Amino acid sequence: MKVLFIAPPQNSGYFNLCYNFTELGEVSTYVAKQSAYADSVDVLDASKKSPNSWKKIGSQLKKGYDVVAIWNRFDNLSNAQKVAKMAKEANPATMTITYGQPSTLVPRHFTREYELDAVVKHGPWELVLEGYLGHLAEGGKTGEAKGLLMKEDGWRDREDLAAPGEPFWEYADLSKLPLKDYFEIYKEEGHIAGFKGTREMSFSVSRGCKMQCNFCNAHKIHGKKDVRKPVDYIMDYVDENFGRYGFDFVSTFSPILTLDRGHAIGFSRGMGERGIDWKCVSHIRHVDDGLLEEMGKGGCQRIGFGLETMAPEAERFIKKKFSRKEVEKAIDACRKHEVIPMMFLMLGIPGETRETFRSTIKFLREKEAEIRMTAFTPFYEIKDSMSIDQIMRYDRESITAENVKGMKREEFEAAVKDIKTWAEGEKI
Ligand code: SF4
Repeated sequence: MKVLFIAPPQNSGYFNLCYNFTELGEVSTYVAKQSAYADSVDVLDASKKSPNSWKKIGSQLKKGYDVVAIWNRFDNLSNAQKVAKMAKEANPATMTITYGQPSTLVPRHFTREYELDAVVKHGPWELVLEGYLGHLAEGGKTGEAKGLLMKEDGWRDREDLAAPGEPFWEYADLSKLPLKDYFEIYKEEGHIAGFKGTREMSFSVSRGCKMQCNFCNAHKIHGKKDVRKPVDYIMDYVDENFGRYGFDFVSTFSPILTLDRGHAIGFSRGMGERGIDWKCVSHIRHVDDGLLEEMGKGGCQRIGFGLETMAPEAERFIKKKFSRKEVEKAIDACRKHEVIPMMFLMLGIPGETRETFRSTIKFLREKEAEIRMTAFTPFYEIKDSMSIDQIMRYDRESITAENVKGMKREEFEAAVKDIKTWAEGEKI
């Protein structure tokens, strides 16, 4: 079978480009390398909008594919709908399937407004896609097609597909991704705290998360078990690709890199031996002085921590709470080993007030932590019955959260957009 993976035009930016390496690159590479049914796999990443985007998509679709897999994201749904329509117009025999975070949350939405034959709803995307290819190749006889909604005399709901609990995935074949476009995006958005260059390489060190936060999808897609690629495998990939494609540093993709201490130390040492700078995401309770020393020596420039809020009521709402002492300890240990501590906050969690928010920012600034703001996205409200426009509002950039008590909408949006300027205006 001839398969095309396609990323429709979307709002690519610094904070979501890592997904092009993982959700598009890793998923398509798995099918290219491991599929028993795909004879060829092409990838068209048209996510960076350009005047030629639709022309490029149209010409690619004319190449005659058996299956077109469309990557859906909250910011590309209307374009994903257009791509599905174009694929059917180019070749009515092409089977169209979509996968991505929105279809994991609201799969039935995709059975109504799109010209699709199947929707990936639950389980590791590449394995669900492979099951679907097998189903098509064997004339619908295989029982392997799981984790899907499929059109067969109406829409059928297949049973969920559990994550296998082992590091089955493949790293992206970078020759198939438009790295020049990515580098342009990094350049346009300027330098990131702690890094000298702009060309960032990303891959999944681990997948799955045992924390199961109710505002996050990671555990729904990749399972509750933390599964990791062996350090040697990662280093081979870095050796093969880092210099070859001219990267400046590595952004690891891992819900909590330090959850497995031995693996995190092995990874740090490997990167240190190569002299490559990198960053990661961790957890306030999963770092300590000895580990941070290894990470700092190994080239770790920055660690992001999902603090989210320090307002007691909001902490209760998201069922996530850290004491000031714990936060302080993590920040101090990072600073001691010259690693920048970056606290991720979400503004708009029910229970936050202007005063609690100010107090959190004041505390973090006094401790000299970097802060990254996003708006809280109430994914629990999202419904299959919503329209494309309604679902696209759940894109993190769209700011759907309720106003924080005591804050005007404009102030709320200004704080999310640029916390430094907001805090300076507030003289915090
Ligand atoms: S710890 Fe992070 S990755 Fe894990 S479920 Fe919570 S928000 Fe998601």
